[in-house]
Amino acid sequence: MSIAPQRLLGFAFASADLLLELSPDGRITLAMGASEALSGNAETELTGRAWRDFVDVRDRPLMQALLDGLADGRRGGPVVVSLATENGRERAASLSAFCLPANHGAISCVMSRATPKTTHELHDKTAFEAVTSALFETAKATGVELELALVEMGGLEGLRKKLSPEAFKAIEQRLSGALRAQSHGGAAAADLGQDRYALVRQQGESPDNLTKRILKLLNLSPSDGVAPVAAAIAMKSDAQPGQVMRAIRFSLDSFIKDGMDSAQPATLDEAVARSVRRTLTDVGVLGEAVTAKNFKLVYQPVVNLKDKNSLHHHEVLVRFGDNASPFPMIRMAEELDLIEPLDLAVVEQTIDRLAGDPNLRLAANISGRTITSSDFIAAVKSMLAAKPAAVGRLMFELTESAAIEDMALADRHLQALRDEGCMVCLDDFGAGAASLAYLQQLSLDIVKIDGRYIREIQHGGRESTFIRHLVYMCGELGVKTLAEMVETPQAEEAVRKAGVDYAQGWLYGAPTDIPLKPTATGGANVRPALRRVGEVESWG
Ligand code: C2E
Ligand code: MG
Ligand code: MG
Repeated sequence: MSIAPQRLLGFAFASADLLLELSPDGRITLAMGASEALSGNAETELTGRAWRDFVDVRDRPLMQALLDGLADGRRGGPVVVSLATENGRERAASLSAFCLPANHGAISCVMSRATPKTTHELHDKTAFEAVTSALFETAKATGVELELALVEMGGLEGLRKKLSPEAFKAIEQRLSGALRAQSHGGAAAADLGQDRYALVRQQGESPDNLTKRILKLLNLSPSDGVAPVAAAIAMKSDAQPGQVMRAIRFSLDSFIKDGMDSAQPATLDEAVARSVRRTLTDVGVLGEAVTAKNFKLVYQPVVNLKDKNSLHHHEVLVRFGDNASPFPMIRMAEELDLIEPLDLAVVEQTIDRLAGDPNLRLAANISGRTITSSDFIAAVKSMLAAKPAAVGRLMFELTESAAIEDMALADRHLQALRDEGCMVCLDDFGAGAASLAYLQQLSLDIVKIDGRYIREIQHGGRESTFIRHLVYMCGELGVKTLAEMVETPQAEEAVRKAGVDYAQGWLYGAPTDIPLKPTATGGANVRPALRRVGEVESWG
C-alpha cells in the first residue's frame, strides 16, 4: 500500500509542532515545522547541527539516555527537555523519539512546546513525594496507568571507591539521565541516597527489563559489580488523597530503610493498608510513651569552642523503643496534639537527672507547639520549685518542626523560662522559612545553626559566608551561636574560624545513654584532645 507523504505528515503534525530526524552520529538531518517558535532557530539553521548544541547542557544526559534506550524498538519519551537558548529565555519541548528499523538507524523525533521544568536533576525525597502525589492525581483523572518503581543500584557505592572522582561523576550523570529518561515526562525520578532511587513511569514493562536497560545505559561490564534490582508499585488506589500521600511516603521510607529486603507492596492500595497499620502501631507506641512514660533519654555533648573544647552541656534526645531517630514520631505527636505531654514528660525526667547529678547541665527540646502553652510553663515552674537543686542547669531548645502560631506569646513564655534560670536556644536555625522572624521576635541566649550548613561548610563556598554573617548578626544581638552536626576536624576548624561559640556532633560524641563525666576540676570539662565518645569515660 502506498500512502501519500502529506497524509503521513498530517498525522505527525497532529501530535507535534516540530519534526526532527537525527542521524546515528547525532546530527540533525531534517527539521520541519514550527522551528522558529519552538527553538528560536529556522529549520534550515538546524539541519547539519549536532543535537547536543540544540539541547540545554543540563538535559543532555537525559536526552542521551533517551536516544541510547531506543535500540530495542521502544518509543522513548515523551520527556520535557530544555532547549539551548542564547538570549537567556528558557524554552522547553516535550519530545518523543522512535527508531524505525527501515530507516537505517535514523531517529525520528517529534516535539511540541512545553512548560520549562523546575529541575534538571534527580529530585530529593521530599520533592519526589510531591511530584508522585501530583502524578497520582493526574493519572486518576486521565486514566494513564502509572507505577512507582523502586530501584536499588547494588554495588554502586563499591564502584565509587574503585574509580576516580571524575569517572564516577560521569557514571552518576549517566544514571541520572537514564532514570529521568525512563520516568514519566522525564521529570519524575529521585535519588533517595545509599544507592536507592525511585521513579514514576507508565506501567507495562517488568522491573527486570527496567534494570537491564539502566545497566546497558550505564555502559558497565559485569566485572564492575553493579547489580540493580527493581520493584514496582502500581499507582492505583481509591483511598483519600491524604492517605495516598502517606502511603507513598511510607513506601519510600521503608525502601530507604530496608531496601529490597522488605517485600514491596504490589499496589498503592496495599501500601495504604500497610501504612495505616503502621500508623496505628505508632500511635499505640506514642500513646504508651506519653501515658506510661515509655521512652528513654540519650545525651549528646556540646563543647565550648572558645574554652579549649570543654564540655558545656548535653542535649537531651528522646528514644522510643529502638535507637532510631524519634523525628517521625515527634511529627506525629505534633499532628495528634500529643507533643505537649511528651515534652513535659521529657523535661520532668531531665529535671530529675539534673537534681541527681550536680555537675550536669542539660538542654531539653521543646516543640514550637508546646512553647505557646501556659500550662507547660506553669508545670516547668512548679517542677523546678520542687527540685531546687536543678535550678540554673536546665536549658531549652526550641525546635522549628511545628511553626509557632503566636510569636508574642511564645516570647513571653521564653522570658518566663529565662527568669527561672533556664537558657533558651533556637534549634535548627536556617532550616525553616521562619528562622529570621524567630530571631527578630524572640529573646534568646543561643542560636543553633542547622546541621545542613555545617556539613557543607568544610567545602568552603556559600555556607561559610552565611555562617560568618549569622555569627556577626548574633553577636550584635548578644546571642551566642552553636554549630550542630560537626563531624570532622575540618568542619570544626571552619566553624571555629567563622567565630561560632559552641559545637556538637559526632566529632565530640554521638548521643549515648550516659552523659560524659565532667573532670574533677568541676564545671567545664576540659577535654585533652578531640576523641570519640566511646573512648571517653562515662559518668556512671
Ligand atoms: P535536633 O534537636 O536538631 O537534634 C539533633 C539531631 O542530629 C539528633 O537526631 C542527633 O542524633 C543528630 N546528630 C547529632 N550529631 C550529629 C552529627 O554529627 N551528624 C549527624 N548527621 N547527625 C547528628 P535525633 O536524635 O534523631 O533527633 C531528631 C530530632 O527530633 C531533633 O533534632 C529534635 O527536633 C527532635 N527531638 C528529639 N527529642 C525530642 C524531644 O524530647 N522533644 C521534642 N519536641 N523534639 C525532640
Ligand atoms: Mg535540638
Ligand atoms: Mg538541630
